Amino acid sequence: MSGSPSYLKGLNEQQLEAVTHGQEPLLILAGAGSGKTRVITTRIAWLINDMGFEPSSILAVTFTNKAAAEMSDRVQGMVSDAQGVMIKTFHSFGAWLLRRNASLLDMKSHFTIYDDDDVLSLLKTLFDEAPRNELRRYSRDISRAKDDCLQPDDDLSHINPDPSFNEIYRIYETRLRDIGNADFGDLISLPVKMLRESGELKKRIHQKFRVILVDEYQDSNGAQFQLLKELSGPDTWLAVVGDDDQSIYRFRGAEVKNILTFHESFPGTKVIKLEENYRSTGNILSIASSVVSNNSGRLGKTLWTRKGSGVKAKLFYSENQITEAQDCAENIMANSQYGETAVLYRTNAQSREFESTFRKMGIPYRLVGTLSFYSREEIKDTVAFLSFLSNSRDEVAFRRIINKPARGLGKVSLEKVFRYMLDAGGDLLEASKAALGGMKGKGAKGLTDFCRICDQLSEALGESATLAPYVDRVIRESGLLEYHRAQDEVDHSQKVRNLEELVTAADQYDGTMEGLSEFLELIELDQTMLEEEDNDPDRVTLITMHNTKGLEFDRVFITGMEEGLFPRGDEYADDDDIEEERRLFYVSITRARKELFFTSTRRRMLYGRTEDRYPSRFIDELPSELVDTIGEDSGPSGDFKPGTRLYHEDYGVGVVNKNLFNNGHTVLHVIFESGRTAVLMPEFCAHKLEK
Ligand code: ATP
Ligand code: MG
Repeated sequence: MSGSPSYLKGLNEQQLEAVTHGQEPLLILAGAGSGKTRVITTRIAWLINDMGFEPSSILAVTFTNKAAAEMSDRVQGMVSDAQGVMIKTFHSFGAWLLRRNASLLDMKSHFTIYDDDDVLSLLKTLFDEAPRNELRRYSRDISRAKDDCLQPDDDLSHINPDPSFNEIYRIYETRLRDIGNADFGDLISLPVKMLRESGELKKRIHQKFRVILVDEYQDSNGAQFQLLKELSGPDTWLAVVGDDDQSIYRFRGAEVKNILTFHESFPGTKVIKLEENYRSTGNILSIASSVVSNNSGRLGKTLWTRKGSGVKAKLFYSENQITEAQDCAENIMANSQYGETAVLYRTNAQSREFESTFRKMGIPYRLVGTLSFYSREEIKDTVAFLSFLSNSRDEVAFRRIINKPARGLGKVSLEKVFRYMLDAGGDLLEASKAALGGMKGKGAKGLTDFCRICDQLSEALGESATLAPYVDRVIRESGLLEYHRAQDEVDHSQKVRNLEELVTAADQYDGTMEGLSEFLELIELDQTMLEEEDNDPDRVTLITMHNTKGLEFDRVFITGMEEGLFPRGDEYADDDDIEEERRLFYVSITRARKELFFTSTRRRMLYGRTEDRYPSRFIDELPSELVDTIGEDSGPSGDFKPGTRLYHEDYGVGVVNKNLFNNGHTVLHVIFESGRTAVLMPEFCAHKLEK
């Protein structure tokens, strides 16, 4: 390989083949950490430097804006004029194309992109009578239809069996086109439409983008696939990379099918597999492979590493969510490479305990891809309500909650309240009551309700020992619970769960006015500290599993390994759901370079309730010889450590594979010489045999 440009040095044979592959469609199918993203960036450099492609003739599509920025950085390290390469997400590329060619669809190029709230407001003006929940459902189903490029005329029964749904979609679509704006789904489906209708545009695009590369292809949806199809002409150099085992957005319409049928859609496809993993130690890789082998219908891939086996993973059983966070914190402090450490969890609400423990212990951290717990909309709403209850002169809080949920108070009614404010000595509750005199209609009813709720809640303070039941009541009676529940149904968001988590947080405070003030003070403090910490790069990353896609860290903590939490859902979840969760586990494990930790609690207070927890079924899938377990129950069965030989009357001789604490009891997972495995309680099991 002497004489080859420096950026090609160090690539393995398959990577080099992929980087320097010619014009035929290319599918790189490979496991985590095998250098897929690196192949894409290096290929861009090769195409420009060695093949003479203009940077501006290259389009690279990634999954998140962060990934796009990173890819751009990497390319710039290898190519002098990399600026011209277009590196975007599918959506930002769609918006770019649409703006430049808006006139083809009779749109203005400066259209506004509607987010979910805008879509909802539009639906509200169109279907005034429909309850909010139903509007949210329409919004979700329309977006689903668009994920598959389906029009109002198409058969939509698999999305919404109600025959009137087509008409609702049509009315919405007509109005949106009249206004001239676009929703999120339009950013993909309108470019597809445009390219199909205008042969001239299609020709121009094929001439402009001679090269197209797609990262994380396994998570593209039906509409994105169709866009890719339209963008690729007969002479386009098309390459996509993906890993079927890392497909984790099925709930958003992603289709693994796109990968499985790629060679049919693009005849002549060359498939290259990459098998060397450059990221993780041998142990981490073995754990990942062993876990994902429980899924069916995989394409099947090999991964190996020349790195040594490395250290074993550790599994911590903690008493509850507080000790879980402390266990992680102590471990992190012992090493203190904060910037190379990530704590992963399944649901956003789990970040709260880590945030507060890390604060207390002085561990710097940053939250990725989501707001700090106390900065979230639903939490701020509730905190505003609580603040108003503790101080009815708090104008900022008042403005935030007075019409949320909508209480029919217009501008005029509000102005009236503020006119009475001075007389009431700044007290907005008093001012509201005063303003009611002479007020009529919707506004009067809304304001009366608001005053009544505030009075009732003020009286209720002090009725319970801790603040938790009080906060719970405020969330319900303020109407915020219903309001955010409706949002959850559509967005798959976790606002209600976060609200319940706020109740958990309040449990550590007295149910008195003093307790409430302390609680609000802590939240205030949290906010200030967060702003101060923003500039420090050496911080632990707190992140949901979904957001870790494509990233890597030396040390990774996978937390909350409990049934119901991860895998998420109930015990009756169907196999497809479990397999998707298992792929998410695979993604999480493979983020780690050197060290891997799992945590599981015996009891957890989450979402305002304390519950006994059962270890995640995924723990059983970890190869026990590669994982050290810490904090197991040491009851009467403490003797039956993994590796202990025993004799059972029915099954014969076996070896303890795992010793788990489950629902207050210790259970043994035993592998017998006959090949059978069984889960047994030690007291019924058996005699221990000497080694
Ligand atoms: P994921 O599936 O998680 O997105 P990936 O297949 O995209 O992973 P990369 O992120 O491209 O993998 O590579 C993983 C790590 O291995 C990176 O740190 C990358 O720089 C490194 N790497 C890839 N190929 C090589 C190589 N030939 N020599 C040395 N390091 C490499
Ligand atoms: Mg990658």
